[in-house]
Amino acid sequence: MDRRRLGRTNLRMSQVGFGGTWIAELPKPQAVEVVQHAFELGFNYFDTARWDGDSEEKIGEALQNKKRNQCIIATKTGNRTKRESLQDFEVSLKNLQTDYVDILQLHGIDDEKTLNKAMSEDGVLQTCKQAQREGQTKFIGITGHKPRVLTKAITTGEFDTVLVPLNVVTPQALEELIPTAKAHDVGVVIMKPLSVKTSNLITCLYQPSLSLISEEEELKALLGQTAEEQVASALQYVLAQDVSGVIAGLKSISEVETAANAANQYHSLTPEKKQQFSFELGNYYCRDCGLCMPCPNNINIPAILRFQMLQDIYGLKNWAKKRYNGLEIKAEKCEHCGQCTPKCPYNLPIEKQLEKAKQEPRE
Ligand code: SF4
Ligand code: SF4
Repeated sequence: MDRRRLGRTNLRMSQVGFGGTWIAELPKPQAVEVVQHAFELGFNYFDTARWDGDSEEKIGEALQNKKRNQCIIATKTGNRTKRESLQDFEVSLKNLQTDYVDILQLHGIDDEKTLNKAMSEDGVLQTCKQAQREGQTKFIGITGHKPRVLTKAITTGEFDTVLVPLNVVTPQALEELIPTAKAHDVGVVIMKPLSVKTSNLITCLYQPSLSLISEEEELKALLGQTAEEQVASALQYVLAQDVSGVIAGLKSISEVETAANAANQYHSLTPEKKQQFSFELGNYYCRDCGLCMPCPNNINIPAILRFQMLQDIYGLKNWAKKRYNGLEIKAEKCEHCGQCTPKCPYNLPIEKQLEKAKQEPRE
């Protein structure tokens, strides 16, 4: 599998890496087999987290007999304080059966308050720096779902890598984060190429596993008729961007093989694929930054605007309708108090979009 330079780390990662979240659901021997099969097919980047059940232990066991310098192991701590994250990291090293990880990442930094806490004198960043001084991690990374927050983080110069969602219906990271990462030579790894769960807002292409490929006609029209075509399209859309690689959450031998095939077949986008993936985002493009929130009537404004985009931009009408109908509080609850619109840094006509959402046929 082709490898790409991971920014200033100068590590070379397989362009598709192994996302370790879903192996937590498998019995240990099966999980170990899946990870080892990925290694044999050329995956060298293994991403896991303390928060991901026993994923670290399974990856540790699977890779224990491999040459350590042939694997890039990236884990994460979700604790925000120095003291708690130090304890966390000790457990991670033990679970992973290694003296060091390649990248220690701050997990899920999704707002500025959390970022500031993590970067304070008593924050988790100090743990990462201490681990780096002591040779227990080579590099420090940050992960999250809000490109705006991550952009702020990487401009501090403290992070060597950034892990963020990007997929064909969730292009927000392309706007500012990825160009900024490029300018600072920060390695960009993409997560959730097949599904996106951003905070409380789920905008899945599929369920979060390759084994649950959608049979919905709209998604087939967007990505391809067969499961293999859909996975290949989704991964190749990401690989065509200026990124180091993409991790896919894999939990079976066949998922690993499907992802490896897609990576091996990818060289560049064909003109047909470029056409398939060119969408006019227009003026109502919600970045899901959340700055318009909270709404006094508890309306999930970004969710409604995103569903509207899925319908208007990507043609996912039924899919968007189902998601909208699943919301407990709908656009009808808007009383036009006027609080949200001035808070949107992108000047989106929020109330107008909510009015539009109200008018859509929902049966
Ligand atoms: S204008 Fe409507 S959506 Fe916006 S904050 Fe007020 S009630 Fe909520
Ligand atoms: S409507 Fe504006 S402020 Fe609210 S999430 Fe979208 S882009 Fe951000």
